[in-house]
Formats: sequence, C-alpha cells, structure tokens
Amino acid sequence: MKTYRVAVLSGDGIGPELVRATIPILRLASHLYGFELIFEEALVGGTAIEATGKALPLETLEICKRSQAIFFGAVGGKQWDSLPPEKQPERAALLPLRKTFSLFANLRPVSCYPELLDASPLKPQIASGVDLIIVRELTGGIYFGQPKGKIYTEQGEKAIDTLVYETSEIERVSAVAFEIALRRRKKLTLVDKANVLESSVLWRKTVKEIAKNYPDVQLNFMYVDNAALQLVLKPAQFDVILCENLFGDILSDEAAGIAGSLGLLASASIGSTKFGLYEPAGGSAPDIAGKNIANPIAQILSGALMFEYSFQEEEAAQAIRTAVGDVLKEGYRTADIAQDPSYICTTEQFADKVAQKLEENFKSKKEPVFSEKP
Ligand code: NAD
Repeated sequence: MKTYRVAVLSGDGIGPELVRATIPILRLASHLYGFELIFEEALVGGTAIEATGKALPLETLEICKRSQAIFFGAVGGKQWDSLPPEKQPERAALLPLRKTFSLFANLRPVSCYPELLDASPLKPQIASGVDLIIVRELTGGIYFGQPKGKIYTEQGEKAIDTLVYETSEIERVSAVAFEIALRRRKKLTLVDKANVLESSVLWRKTVKEIAKNYPDVQLNFMYVDNAALQLVLKPAQFDVILCENLFGDILSDEAAGIAGSLGLLASASIGSTKFGLYEPAGGSAPDIAGKNIANPIAQILSGALMFEYSFQEEEAAQAIRTAVGDVLKEGYRTADIAQDPSYICTTEQFADKVAQKLEENFKSKKEPVFSEKP
C-alpha cells in the first residue's frame, strides 16, 4: 500500500485544536481511498520556545526532513511578542522551514462555497463564481533583498529595503503557476508594476518566455493597483494570479476577505519537488484559542491540498472538499460564519460531520443504483 509520512506541527493558539480535529478526517480519507498516512508530531513556535528555547528545534527539523509533507497549524501569541523579531515564532519557525526545503511558491486557492455567499463582504452576485488561486513567490524580493537596514545620516535616519529578483527565481515559480493553470481554466494573470519597477519589467520578460512552453494557457498582465481594485469589483474574472512576494502577500489577504472568514482558506508552500508545507491562511487566533469554536475548514482543506500536491491523491482530496461542501449545504457552521443559532457547531462537531459525510458519500458511490423499472 502507498504510504506517506507527514510531520505534524500544530504550534500555538488554535493550531492544536484545529489539527486534532482534522487528523481523523485525513486518516479516514486515506483508509477509504487506499493509502496509508504515518503522522509524526513535533514542537514548533511558541510552544517549542517554552519547551526547548527554540521556535524550530533541531528534532522538529529532523522529523520534517524524514517526511514527505508538513501539516502545519499556526504559531504565535502575545507571550512571545516581546522577543527580538528574529526569535519570534513566525519568523524563527516558518522562514527557516521555507528556506530549508526551498519552498519558493505559496499557493492560496480562494473560492466561495455557494452556501457561504452571505459570509462574503461582497454582494452575492460579485462573490458568486469566484474560483481563483494566487501563486506568490515566497523566498525572494523585497523581504530578503540586500542591502537592507538602517543608516544614520546628517539629515536623520534612512531605512533601506531592496527589491531584487533573478531570472531563475522568476522562472521556477512561473513554471509552477503555468502547470497549475493547465489543470484549471488555463488563464494566468501576472500582477506587477512594470510601469515603474525594473524588477517587474524582468518578471514580464521572463514570464513571456516561459509562456512559450504553455501555448494553451492564456496569459495577461495587470498592474498591482488595478489588480487590487479588480479583486473587489470583478473577482470571478481571475483563474491563476502570479505575483512577486510583496504583491502576493497583500493580494492574498485581500482575496481572503472575499471568502468572508480567515477560517475558510487553505494554503500550500511548495518547491520543485513534491515536498510541501500545508497550513490555514489565518494565524493562531489567540482571541478564540482553547474554546473549541474555531473554524476548521481551512485546516481540513489544507489537508486536501496536501493530498493533491504532495501525494497526487486527487480523488481523496476532492472527496474531502465535497464533504465540506455537503456539510455546509446542510446548514452547519462554526460561530464565525453562522447565521442560524440552531446550526452552530463547535470545531470538533463540524469536523465530525465532515468525516461522517466523507464516509457516507464514499459508501453511496460504491453501492449500485437500481433503476425503478425492472
Ligand atoms: P489571526 O489570523 O490569528 O486572527 C485574525 C482574526 O481572524 C481573529 O479575530 C481570529 O479570531 C480570526 N480567525 C483566524 N482564524 C480563524 C478560524 N480558523 N476560525 C475563526 N476565526 C478565525 O491574526 P492575528 O490576530 O493578527 O495574529 C495572531 C497571532 O498569529 C500572531 O502572533 C501572529 O504573529 C500569528 N500569525 C501566525 C501565522 C502563521 O502561523 N502562519 C499567520 C498569521 C499570523
């Protein structure tokens, strides 16, 4: 039987309760669809700082190295806000993980379940039909470019950040985006600021070259300011959006707003191999941690992304997405998106319903359907 090893890094805040609720769904899906998952838990984030003094202990890194994917919860919290920035959970755990495994592409799919159109801050007719994915370059650009820092001049302080990209960095993430576009509606929009930024001019040139290998994908270009506007005016026009790091960071949170709750959006960070890190788009939500009320949908859908991208178990991934949609169709919601109080579920109750639906759907698919006529 096919077997996949998964490093489980639950982290802080709502991370552990979301991961705990989701693992049984992933186990059940693997059992139904004929593969095995071996989960290995490891400390990360603030919890790891408390236990070992480090946000990403060596042992955790070793466990990740012997796995095919990392299933991540969230990290961070007020307790660790006073630490120097380089020791804070997000920076000291996520950045080294991305670097160690060369996870240079972040994928964030955004779609609106028809049942949740009311949760979107956009009018239902605008949010309806949104089904896009943002592919963000994750390891280059202005967050990492050198020189970076502060200098003191006679006129006062001066701060420097450098936006720099090499052709090879653009090529590898563009190839990921084109491959994804091929499996979707075959439309790719490069978002840039080529009217003022030299780095954006290089992005356009490089992406046009890569596009020659993908004649079936329709490529267009959009300035980032217009893209920010179009995402709220007409988001359904987008299929795959490719961005450099900073633009992707901002636009992916804007796009998250379309869905209505951070608890709904999954994300994947991948590289050139099948290895990936899968996590919800939101953070550790200390305001609701430990209350069993967080929305587990993003965590569950992150599991589906892991099945799809790291294990190529597309059928199981789709079955999970369908089960989530079916539970929503029945009206069940966690508190962040609930409207009818009689259908409010806890995190655990919602996840249990997804597992039940997954099993029901699987069985009904296997049972022969008899026609009424003899
Ligand atoms: P957050 O995403 O944790 O929370 C923002 C708001 O969204 C809160 O009101 C929260 O209750 C809500 N929310 C988030 N996930 C939810 C869910 N699953 N269900 C229901 N509601 C949900 O952002 P924040 O408050 O700015 O940050 C809190 C901590 O998380 C900080 O320490 C920050 O550094 C960290 N953080 C971590 C990650 C990560 O681990 N990748 C990402 C972002 C923020």
